Amino acid sequence: MAVEREGLSGAETLAKTRTYGKFRCHNPSCMGRFQPEPGAKRVKCPACGMEFRVHWIRPDFPRIRGPVWDVNRKIAQEALAALEAKKSAAKAAPKEEK
Ligand SMILES: [Zn+2]
Repeated sequence: MAVEREGLSGAETLAKTRTYGKFRCHNPSCMGRFQPEPGAKRVKCPACGMEFRVHWIRPDFPRIRGPVWDVNRKIAQEALAALEAKKSAAKAAPKEEK
């Protein structure tokens, strides 16, 4: 039954190449992989917390349209605030007065 076997492995190969639902995070410093829930309008990267808008070309074929700026800006602002806090702590050193 060589033919039957071939058919099966062919289907398996096809199944492996079907990576429609998976994305790489668009955050260049993250590159995490994630998969949106079927029908979801947004997807959140589990690695860095950034959110992206999802467009469904077909019910099983999502595409990332772009980042959710509100959420990502908040993340960026929090990161910046942490940085500023560090800076102002350093500035609190007495001789840095202008
Ligand atoms: Zn990410």
